[in-house]
Amino acid sequence: QKRNPHELEFHQAVKEILDSLVPALAKQPKYMNAGILERLVEPERQITFRVPWVDDQGKVQVNRGYRVQFNSAIGPYKGGLRFHPSVNSSIIKFLGFEQIFKNSLTGQPIGGGKGGSDFDPKEKSDGEVMRFTQSFMTELHKYIGPDTDVPAGDIGVGGREIGFMFGQYKRIVGGNQAGVLTGKGIHYGGSLARPEATGYGTVYFVNEMLQAQGQSLEGSTIVVSGSGNVAIYAIQKANQFGAKVVACSDSNGYVHDPDGIDYEIVKRLKEVERKRISEYVKERPNATYHLGCEGIWSIPCDIALPCATQNEIDEDAARLLVKNGVKAVAEGANMPSTLAAIDVFLENGILFGPAKAANAGGVAVSALEMAQNSMRLSWTFEEVDKKLHDIMIDIHRSCAEAAESNGYPGNLVVGANIAGFTKVADAMLAQGVI
Ligand code: NDP
Repeated sequence: QKRNPHELEFHQAVKEILDSLVPALAKQPKYMNAGILERLVEPERQITFRVPWVDDQGKVQVNRGYRVQFNSAIGPYKGGLRFHPSVNSSIIKFLGFEQIFKNSLTGQPIGGGKGGSDFDPKEKSDGEVMRFTQSFMTELHKYIGPDTDVPAGDIGVGGREIGFMFGQYKRIVGGNQAGVLTGKGIHYGGSLARPEATGYGTVYFVNEMLQAQGQSLEGSTIVVSGSGNVAIYAIQKANQFGAKVVACSDSNGYVHDPDGIDYEIVKRLKEVERKRISEYVKERPNATYHLGCEGIWSIPCDIALPCATQNEIDEDAARLLVKNGVKAVAEGANMPSTLAAIDVFLENGILFGPAKAANAGGVAVSALEMAQNSMRLSWTFEEVDKKLHDIMIDIHRSCAEAAESNGYPGNLVVGANIAGFTKVADAMLAQGVI
């Protein structure tokens, strides 16, 4: 805390992980002796840079760009870019730190990184987004590459932004550069099922959590927060499993549709028309719109899937969910539950899937995109989806086994942290003090 004052989100992410590593470290003093924890919490490299661009009125705007290259013990840095006005070094560091363990859990050879900018793509024209992203990449390209650091999307960075950044990277560096970014369009090196991967993966993970308890998704009522990339495909996959999603949201408010959220409408409104979720009720007479996104957790449900942003479920929201009978919570977003909220879930015996396990499907398919780029191959949607499903089953199994063998049966927070940590720590031990 002394070294990183004011980085509250980063402290929160570090505390969650270090608290649950205690049982593993007590058994393995070699990690303590080698200073693994001290090295893990310090990024290998952090880059901040100026991003000047010209808006549609001809005025010069300046944003700040970030890339944190946190840990490359098991592979090239890998993690998304976030464009949102709330972005600062604490947010990027918490995301980069979490990414180390998440990427390890996927079983793919990828290290942890994250980046972004305080640029707000909302209400910007395509031309403004293009000029900003080109300026951003003009600086970022010096630090990334297919074998060193491979960024992807996150909040505010979807197919349009990745396309512009990829074009600029190629223009500067030249040649075939498919492997430098993931989340690319399907006609220039992208992977089928990458847009769907995080949302689908989260639902596959919940399915495993439920099945381990002899329960199933079929017939359950689900609340999904957010209406972006992760939320949209979580809704679609939950419907395919026979569950009913009754609510979703954006940062202004939420919609409650007791007949079940129509995934096609949300997808069109958000991906094609780039409209607010309030527009949904114009097409669904039984649905209601409510101002204020936090209120979504007051809707009774069997399963809650927070898929919007960090700290969106606080202790009060967690207590309300428990009071209303929630059985399972899985984090599609990164760190959407506060530490106090997680305690409420665990103390009340709620099945809880932490982000680094439950939403690892996105980065897992990004790694599959990198593999396809290296081999100059394209797998079918079904092939990628099957690999994703298998990876999520494996992640659940390794978290459950690590929890069990360390004396915390059923605690997937402890399980995910220990399973993700062990592989990275062993790689760091093998590579000496670097
Ligand atoms: P999008 O930008 O596509 O969607 C984000 C959604 O969350 C929007 O509905 C947005 O509403 C809402 N939201 C964003 N910020 C806030 C806020 N401060 N308060 C309330 N609502 C907010 O992003 P993604 O769907 O890609 O990402 C969502 C979460 O999932 C993030 O935590 C991200 O880190 C995580 N994640 C994403 C992965 C991916 O593959 N995309 C992979 C793994 C994790 P509005 O439109 O009003 O801003």
